[in-house]
Amino acid sequence: MTESTSSQPVLIDKFGRRVEYVRLSVTDRCDFRCVYCMSEDMEFLPREQVLSLEEIYNLAKSFTDLGVNKLRLTGGEPLVRKGVLGLIEKMGQLPAELLITTNGSQLPKMAKDLKRFGVDRLNISLDSLQRDKFQRLTRSDRLHQVLAGIDAACEAGFNGIKLNAVVLKGRNDDEVVDLVEFARDREIDITFIEEMPLGAITEHDRAESYCSSDEILEMLNKEYDLLSSTEKPADLPSITG
Ligand code: SF4
Repeated sequence: MTESTSSQPVLIDKFGRRVEYVRLSVTDRCDFRCVYCMSEDMEFLPREQVLSLEEIYNLAKSFTDLGVNKLRLTGGEPLVRKGVLGLIEKMGQLPAELLITTNGSQLPKMAKDLKRFGVDRLNISLDSLQRDKFQRLTRSDRLHQVLAGIDAACEAGFNGIKLNAVVLKGRNDDEVVDLVEFARDREIDITFIEEMPLGAITEHDRAESYCSSDEILEMLNKEYDLLSSTEKPADLPSITG
């Protein structure tokens, strides 16, 4: 629902909270097939059921007219949608912070343009630094491309870059500290997140692979002195030393 303040209408959810942050999925397609996300022969939505780029822009504009000040583009992989740079260029002129969640594969060629078109921050997925593991997790042999994309993003000078790593027991849980070190070397952030399937998953048992945040914390506690973060969300540990 919308409510008017003295000057403009604002978006309020059914619990009375003001909505200031919106995520827009621009496509369900992706150039990877992560085992925890979709099956190898994933069936995507018919194109006529997907909003056009113009519709997505109009939606984003309407949200900012209603006081939304943070827009995130997601997918699937948002940067594989044809014409997405044109959409991003227009959205970069809206009065809102613009963020993108990406698997990084398109960043070697797009990072500079994204920065130039007004993207403020990037979240980049990276689950493994080892080629064979990366290939097994994403069903794609393109770790080198993602690493080059992360370097290109670092060079482009975004306001913030954060790595998102999904940790799966028995698959990449031995890389938690290596991933932290990779992020620290580049002075970027890292978050360990839970898997979030987009479609049916076939060769992967979620219960068996689940790695809790307490377990990850324990691994990190062995290596680092952790402090509660002063940043939001509150009470997240940060690493010192
Ligand atoms: S997790 Fe991300 S990169 Fe992997 S298949 Fe799903 S949308 Fe693509």
